[in-house]
Amino acid sequence: MALLTQQKSNLGFFPTPLVELSRLTAILGGPRIFMKRDDMTGLALGGNKTRKLEYLMADAVQQGADTIITAGAEQSNHCRQTAAAAACLQMDCHLVLGGEPPESINGNLLLDNLFGCHIHWAGNNRKGEDIPMIVDKLRKAGKKPYVVPYGGSNHLGSLGFISALEELHFQANSINTNMTHIIFASSSGGTHAGLMLGNHMLDENYELIGINIDKDESSTPFINTILDIANQTAQQLDLQHTFNLDDITLESSYTGDGYGVVGDLEKEAISLLAQHEGILLDPVYTGRAMGGLINMIRAGRFSHSDNILFWHTGGAPALFAYSEEFNPSPVSPTV
Ligand SMILES: *Cc1c(COP(=O)(O)O)cnc(C)c1O
Repeated sequence: MALLTQQKSNLGFFPTPLVELSRLTAILGGPRIFMKRDDMTGLALGGNKTRKLEYLMADAVQQGADTIITAGAEQSNHCRQTAAAAACLQMDCHLVLGGEPPESINGNLLLDNLFGCHIHWAGNNRKGEDIPMIVDKLRKAGKKPYVVPYGGSNHLGSLGFISALEELHFQANSINTNMTHIIFASSSGGTHAGLMLGNHMLDENYELIGINIDKDESSTPFINTILDIANQTAQQLDLQHTFNLDDITLESSYTGDGYGVVGDLEKEAISLLAQHEGILLDPVYTGRAMGGLINMIRAGRFSHSDNILFWHTGGAPALFAYSEEFNPSPVSPTV
């Protein structure tokens, strides 16, 4: 029986595959590592935002919106998937992107353009600060705008990860494997909050470890944002349950030189997965989260009998915007 009865728009293909990474496991000397392939959700090259958008876009339709507006970084995966979702529903889409227009467009930004959305460059207002002003203009022009929150993370977006946890629960049972830990990149909170709720609602006790991607610079610490989304969602679902900060594991030691800056941690993880599993991680989120997982395994954080699930949240289209970081090493072929 499905945990949720809320309306959703069908935007992706589910369930996404659950695979075992046996070569990576062997290289690291155990524990067993599995991967949930949300890079394969199917909407416009995939990613975790598809699950959130299924609920958010249904709400937009229900409210009679004709225009979607959201915000993100220049290489935002969330914005790319939102632009595609708006195209599927034949709505206009406005993206408010941090920074200035770059000289050449690539990666997610190239795809945003293909979906025909309107791009507003917001300079230092990187987290959607300009949205109210644009909404105002759109209303004056007779439009009915719907604001999708930053990263798709609120009490509606997080519903997508309650269903996601239920999906994993059934898949893991069907291969008779009890996952002990779930590791994932955490950055706007909806994924983390949804997984916490799914754990609670299914009476599972997966140990959730979010790898923090961004340095905490705003006045509200990120862990409080996760908590707020989790409790707002619980309230909306009439769960009579309150989470507290102790329920959240957020690992913040892998933020390196900040958001979007690729270091050795990310590079090693990206090449290990590419060369031994044929799987593409992304430079900003999953490369960092997998780098964190590899580091924790080497540091002995897990026991040999644990089953680790890495949630691949997508993002590989951003690789194309990082081509200078991944120049092939100048080794000439020996044959
Ligand atoms: C947005 C995003 C995340 C983070 O998910 P949140 O729900 O925003 O915390 C992780 N990985 C990728 C590839 C993303 O695009």
